[in-house]
Amino acid sequence: MADRPGMNGLDARELARLSAELARLKREALVGVRRSAGEMSGEDAELFRDLGLTGDGAVAEAEFERDVAGASQVRAALIALVAAEGRIAKGEYGLCEDCGESIGLPRLEAQPAASRCVRCQERAEKQEGPAHFSG
Ligand SMILES: [Zn+2]
Repeated sequence: MADRPGMNGLDARELARLSAELARLKREALVGVRRSAGEMSGEDAELFRDLGLTGDGAVAEAEFERDVAGASQVRAALIALVAAEGRIAKGEYGLCEDCGESIGLPRLEAQPAASRCVRCQERAEKQEGPAHFSG
């Protein structure tokens, strides 16, 4: 049939849906960064530039509230989302970055930015500690 699954087991329609979901989550994360980023570091400004966004308005708005923990969390989420979009572009989306196996549609639907399968994610969390963004 037309929708031939790739290596990651996703067909074109599933990939398109997950891609749209990533874009939506990215917009939400950006709003979160703007709201909660008390301190916008140079690194953040670079990230915004890399994302093709105007950093200036975001930096100005970020002066408002100071919730550093929340800010770093949404930043981590944003980075994960952008990385996932990069993997889509490279045709590597949906594959575990550790073991190379298919992550699986149910997990990707729950966590579109997931870069590891459940098993590797659990192992990574044990190694890296709870502060690490879990994908
Ligand atoms: Zn894995």
